[in-house]
Amino acid sequence: MEAFLYESHESRVKFGRGLIREAGFELEKLGGKRALVITTAGRRVLANSMAALLGERCAAMFTEAVQHVPVKTVDNAMKVVRQFDVDSFVPVGGGSSIGLAKALALKTGYPILAIPTTYAGSEMTPIWGITENGQKKTGKSLLVRPKTVIYDPEVTVTLPSRLTATSGINAVAHCVEGLYAENANPVISLLAEEGIRVLCSTLPALIESPKDVTLRTEALYGTWLGSLVLGSVGMALHHKLCHVLGGSYNLQHAETHAVILPYALWYNSAAIRPALEAIARALNCEPDDVAASLYDLTNALGVPVSLKEIGMKKEQLDEAADIAVKHPYYNPRPLEETSIRHLLEYAFYGERPK
Ligand code: NAD
Repeated sequence: MEAFLYESHESRVKFGRGLIREAGFELEKLGGKRALVITTAGRRVLANSMAALLGERCAAMFTEAVQHVPVKTVDNAMKVVRQFDVDSFVPVGGGSSIGLAKALALKTGYPILAIPTTYAGSEMTPIWGITENGQKKTGKSLLVRPKTVIYDPEVTVTLPSRLTATSGINAVAHCVEGLYAENANPVISLLAEEGIRVLCSTLPALIESPKDVTLRTEALYGTWLGSLVLGSVGMALHHKLCHVLGGSYNLQHAETHAVILPYALWYNSAAIRPALEAIARALNCEPDDVAASLYDLTNALGVPVSLKEIGMKKEQLDEAADIAVKHPYYNPRPLEETSIRHLLEYAFYGERPK
């Protein structure tokens, strides 16, 4: 075994059906007396229920979170924070709601109680992002890592099939890249392998039975593992490419992850044998078939497998390849612009990787 560094940071996690009802108790434990409930426009009903659950501890609601945290949204939400003398944040939603809460926590230092309703996995990480003039700036700070997370599968049963599938693959992607991270370690690798196994075996059944709370519980368990991995070790080509494509061309976050993952694995495959073996154990396939198996899974889930289908334009591929290699970062296989351009071409047409 190679030398490694393992660091962990405390956070409180409550996991189980119906536990959203304990949000008031959890907020009190954090010292929150005047919370801002945060969500996206589509989740207003849920935000209302959360406000009712919190009672007097809810000072205001902000229901205009959108993906990639535009600076204008942060500014608007900060006005509400000041106007209502807010002292804590309760995002109830996907990565967009939690992302906005993180941006506000970065400015104020107030604690976050997060209640995730998708599988994006922002809740266990210290990673924040804010978008200004089309550029998404990201950073890490323990200030933004939610102090408490409630995983309640009941709030995920409304997740539409397409988002269930793509968001689920987003969680798989955290686990996959965690296995070949620069700072990978044996504990996180165990979580990652288990996360891939749980998510990939649950997602097909969940598309058939979206209201099945037992399956939703399994998927949320995989989400937690993926989020722990994402919050603990560094990511590589897959996440960086998705960041470029999402930030520069406003492609939908989860769909971009679902399309890119098999191609990122295909690109890295010659340099990540132990990771391929772990993924193969989780998927019950041969190590050499991992990229194709993940492509087949995404295809079987009935969601887009090509960048073309999710709104990318062919004339954007050259620029995307250029941006992707501009700022060097760790990746197990060196980044070469021509090869990245090939990867994007395959992903654009959705060709099955071999
Ligand atoms: P999202 O939060 O934008 O949600 C997508 C859509 O699904 C929204 O319209 C929302 O209203 C709806 N929705 C959410 N939960 C629902 C439910 N239970 N039922 C029905 N509809 C529901 O998308 P996302 O994929 O969860 O998050 C994407 C964002 O999160 C991106 O901006 C990404 O960069 C960020 N992210 C950040 C981190 C991090 O560690 N900082 C990690 C993962 C993702």
